[in-house]
Amino acid sequence: DRVRKIWNFGGENSLSKRPESEAKAIPDLSFDELKMLLQKHTPETDAALFRYSNSIANQLFGNKCYVRALVEFSNVCRKNCKYCGIRKDMKGVRRYTIPDHELMALAKFAYENKFTSLVLQSGELGTETRISWLCDMIKKIVKETNDGLRIVISIGELPHKDYKALFDAGARRTLTRIETSNPKLYAKLHPKDHSWQERVDVLKDQSAIGYMMGTGVMAGVPHQVPGDLANDILFLRDMKASMIGMGPWIPSPGTPLGDPFLAQMTRITQRLEGRPWDRSDLKKWYNEDLLKQTLRMYACARIVCYDVNMAATTALEVISPTGRQQALRAGCNIMMPNITPRKYRDGYEIYTKKAEVDGGGADTLIPVGTIARVDKVAAEGGRVVDWGVVKDPLHHL
Ligand code: SAM
Ligand code: SF4
Repeated sequence: DRVRKIWNFGGENSLSKRPESEAKAIPDLSFDELKMLLQKHTPETDAALFRYSNSIANQLFGNKCYVRALVEFSNVCRKNCKYCGIRKDMKGVRRYTIPDHELMALAKFAYENKFTSLVLQSGELGTETRISWLCDMIKKIVKETNDGLRIVISIGELPHKDYKALFDAGARRTLTRIETSNPKLYAKLHPKDHSWQERVDVLKDQSAIGYMMGTGVMAGVPHQVPGDLANDILFLRDMKASMIGMGPWIPSPGTPLGDPFLAQMTRITQRLEGRPWDRSDLKKWYNEDLLKQTLRMYACARIVCYDVNMAATTALEVISPTGRQQALRAGCNIMMPNITPRKYRDGYEIYTKKAEVDGGGADTLIPVGTIARVDKVAAEGGRVVDWGVVKDPLHHL
């Protein structure tokens, strides 16, 4: 059967005997087949699954990968997602919005260094002032970079008129994770006034306007069951996402989902080791299983959604120093290095240790060392960065 075929792909020392073309996309994988592939079996089944998805990626992109510069331009947010460290009610967060001239300098940095996409990410804030400011900034960026940067916006849910205005200003791609395809689970992860259906409608609206729509989910959130992840893959396929960004849930202190989890960790540590919990104990959560679970999600998304763009996300690096490299070997073709200046990083701790991991040594406005770091991670992931390619592969489904 099809699952066996995937698990038998390659095999110890036989990789060279299997032509890459033998790995085929399987858009109609069933819920049961996906559930089987997403579960933990043996290290060998995982290795074969990742070889299979990597072979599909190789057929599509050769050994190339593509980069998008990420700027977290504001942490002001009107929402209260229960997992997020910059949710509206979070105490002690210094709120910021990067001023015009700094944002423009970052866009120029991205352009001059041959990044071809710029991801503008922020908390959700749909005020008129914010939207018209963002439209103006996008117009200026497009003009001053000779239309050399594809602008991706990751700014949450907005009404049609705002997404249309941003499109007219020059934004071309979006990234708005659905977080989970299960509306009941969504309700547990968000306050009552956040609606799963509205988020789905926003994704459809973005596609209808003409955006290359990007979405994704979190793996390992509390209350999630294995079937949820299988349905997530089917959701991403059915929504015809052009870009997929997935990552593990990282417990964030001070959040309604993070605190009970961390309290439980404290109790366990106290009982087993007779000492209080400290940050380093998070390692017990960032374990191999969670990493492999996320990698299986990438692999299945590549097999089912085929020519989608898929990012090896920062949250993976929090779990494992080689997380992104492994993702690039399991079907991912995009990296999104964070070029947000150091002085703002602490304000964007959506989860613990984020600033430590993607700090990138950017003490000045211009993030020194980013380019070399990206090349290194790509090489370790078996890929070469295609700097300066204006269009990364389009999604054809
Ligand atoms: N505000 C926009 C939105 O929600 O779509 C974009 C910014 S938001 C910080 C980007 C993503 O961060 C969310 O879609 C969510 O998946 C992720 N995120 C937030 N808190 C997280 C956590 N504790 N662990 C892992 N990912 C998290
Ligand atoms: Fe705001 Fe996005 Fe965080 Fe939700 S995930 S609280 S919308 S920044």
